Amino acid sequence: MQIQTANGPISASALGATLMHEHLVMALAGWDSDTSAPVRTTEDLVQRCVDRIEELKAGGFSSLLDPLPNDLGRDIELYAEVSARTGFNILFATGIYNEHFAGPYWRFKLAWDPAGWEEYVASMYVRELTEGVGPSKVKPAVIKLAIGRNPESEFESKLIKAAATAANATGAPIVAHTEGVGGDLLLDKLKALGVPAHHVIIGHSCGSPDKAYHRRIVEGGGYIGFDRFGINMIQRDEVRTDGLCSLLQDGYAQQVIVSHDCAFCQRGQMIPDDLHSDAMHFTRNIAPRLRERGISQSMLDSIFKDNPRRYFCNESNPTIGGGI
Ligand SMILES: [Zn+2]
Repeated sequence: MQIQTANGPISASALGATLMHEHLVMALAGWDSDTSAPVRTTEDLVQRCVDRIEELKAGGFSSLLDPLPNDLGRDIELYAEVSARTGFNILFATGIYNEHFAGPYWRFKLAWDPAGWEEYVASMYVRELTEGVGPSKVKPAVIKLAIGRNPESEFESKLIKAAATAANATGAPIVAHTEGVGGDLLLDKLKALGVPAHHVIIGHSCGSPDKAYHRRIVEGGGYIGFDRFGINMIQRDEVRTDGLCSLLQDGYAQQVIVSHDCAFCQRGQMIPDDLHSDAMHFTRNIAPRLRERGISQSMLDSIFKDNPRRYFCNESNPTIGGGI
């Protein structure tokens, strides 16, 4: 089985320990209108990313997935350059962001052509996944599906269907952005549209402290994202750690995805530099707390090595005895 990266396909066995939700560079639509923000050259951005990734290599990681949507500053050439300089695998996504953050472009396009929009978006995803994108025609590894707090809106219900159509046409897995609510319902919708549950990550589920909510996602067969370690303004790490510990103790380690949602650097100045760029935080600060609570290091290693490989290879989930 081959996995797509910013520098072409690799074998699944080459993935190694993988962080499944980090961002090299973010650029929210409109960033270039902020003329007071510091000017950052591409070389500056590349060097910052290289420095961060050298830390990850030293910490035993060899790959990361940057699931940035196309309209949040996805920069495939930068990923390829950083990957070439570090020998680190960088996987990326196709997808557009949720209604709130998608910016005017996609909302305008929907208002202009409501009947054709869903098909247009699905076709774009399929073309990127099958033909590649950018000058080197590299292919995304996943479909990013970003849902806000109103997935029943026209924009987001069409986004969900477009992602499912592209997933069914190509076999690509889906990683979902959620606001920590409604991920269980989103998983049900995707399953009803024909997407296997074990090919879906319900991202940012750690935004909810509700263990019954977490349970519904894993019992539904999906992967659950505890992928914002270190973002205490959304949820305190103590709550995240406790929720994760419960899932691991209850036998769901094979369905857990752990990451940080870091931004190594940015265009414009959305957030202070280095506010959240330490993708070794879990390994350094959270893993010891879990070990104190009886979680083995081999279980933590398996979360970073085996779960990503199983997800990308479309293997059914051993926890639930088969795919749904
Ligand atoms: Zn993210």
